Amino acid sequence: MQILYTSTRGGGHAVSAAFAVLQGLCPDGGLYVPSALPDGRAMLSGMSALPYHERAARVIVPFMSGYDPGDVAMACKQAYGDAFEGPPAPLRALPEDVCVLELYHGPTQAFKDMALQLLPRLMTGAIAASGHRGEVFILVATSGDTGKAALCGFADVPGTRVAVFYPGGGVSDMQRRQMVTQEGGNVHVIAVQGNFDDAQTGVKRLFTDADFAARMKAMGKSLSSANSMNWGRLVPQIAYYFSAYADMAASGAVRAGAPVNVCVPTGNFGNILAAHYARRMGLPIARLICASNRNRVLADFMETGRYDSRRAFHLTPSPSMDILVSSNLERLLFELAGGNPGRVGALMAGLAAEGRYSLQDDELSALQAGFAGGWCADEQCLAAIADTYAQTGYVMDPHTAVGRHVLAQYRASTGDNTPALLVSTASPYKFASDVLKALAPGARPADDFAACEQLQRLTGMPMPGPLRALHTLPVRHSAQCAPEDMAAALLAAL
Ligand SMILES: *Cc1c(COP(=O)(O)O)cnc(C)c1O
Repeated sequence: MQILYTSTRGGGHAVSAAFAVLQGLCPDGGLYVPSALPDGRAMLSGMSALPYHERAARVIVPFMSGYDPGDVAMACKQAYGDAFEGPPAPLRALPEDVCVLELYHGPTQAFKDMALQLLPRLMTGAIAASGHRGEVFILVATSGDTGKAALCGFADVPGTRVAVFYPGGGVSDMQRRQMVTQEGGNVHVIAVQGNFDDAQTGVKRLFTDADFAARMKAMGKSLSSANSMNWGRLVPQIAYYFSAYADMAASGAVRAGAPVNVCVPTGNFGNILAAHYARRMGLPIARLICASNRNRVLADFMETGRYDSRRAFHLTPSPSMDILVSSNLERLLFELAGGNPGRVGALMAGLAAEGRYSLQDDELSALQAGFAGGWCADEQCLAAIADTYAQTGYVMDPHTAVGRHVLAQYRASTGDNTPALLVSTASPYKFASDVLKALAPGARPADDFAACEQLQRLTGMPMPGPLRALHTLPVRHSAQCAPEDMAAALLAAL
């Protein structure tokens, strides 16, 4: 059975995975969703004995219509090899039936590498299969981590060019340095004078801007996306939930076949949506717990069914989750609406015009049957880092700590102590100043590198080599623009 993809808004016809990867966003502004899902139950058998790339191929290959299965398996082998320090998705058991899934051992120290080491290989495969001539121009909006992971994945990949827009004042010092020092002949990095939502809205606008598209076409470029709007970002993320469950069962953290809860620090709703797809494929996940920081629009939505982005935007210690408009929610809405694209279009029109929309009662019950939401204030996040370290010696980054806090809150308020998987999305060293502030409140590091060194001395946890090297790399990218000038900034850069 070939799995095909259609738009959440109903436009166009069903396309292959290769076509969906190449396009990124649907021409009608919607997102590609699979018409069916592979049965995942058999995928778990014997999985814990396999290396990660084989686990990943087992899950990913059935989704990839339009590709040769052997090519996809080979791409997994290349993506999940030497670029990672050790196994790509190791588990770490904490007390009280919590396992942490560490997804930050890739080249840019955040979970985005799990998809963005593979996506360029899928993209070049799709380019070859389509007979496309000219360059695929990949536009990226980043809240901090996608940008570097995309730059790292696509740098000097033939037939591609990548431009990253990041919120000028909204990323950590390490995140900014990672991006502005990027090498490669096909990369552009531009600071937007605004927040992540401004950058993401601007990129989405470029995709539907006919004038911009015509100018790109004249230059032999076609646009694509490396954000989690691209289906090729989501599929690789489904794989690590299977891998984690196989490891939990093998270690006895859960009885094989018994349910687990999964808690995901969430921003654009991509990572947690991948877990939801894994659950629909038959992976025994009971409840998905969606953890937000002070930008708690998703927590409010899950409680009330009202999505309302009209509120103050806060900068927090977990900047990669400082988001008020979560793109991938559209894919879940499509399901909640019973696959009715008209309904999705109406909700999205409400969001565009008024910044809000509301679910009907039946849609809200369907949402709450599978998901719970919660949020964490800045001081609670730092307290979660400190408490976890004091009790277990484990060091976690602020995003993971948001998840830790929300998981504890969920258990306390519901009494549901099902064994839990807590997804760890970044290395503590990417956010060293805040982690150090949590662990050693009296420390006064001069900058992020000093914070890294103090953190390493304090905890003994080794600092990732690529972050250390940033200290001496020259800045290569200093362009900036207003949100309304993103098209002009790109044309100037080309
Ligand atoms: C991107 C990111 C998130 C949010 O993930 P989504 O898929 O956008 O919900 C959380 N933590 C870190 C460190 C990230 O980079």
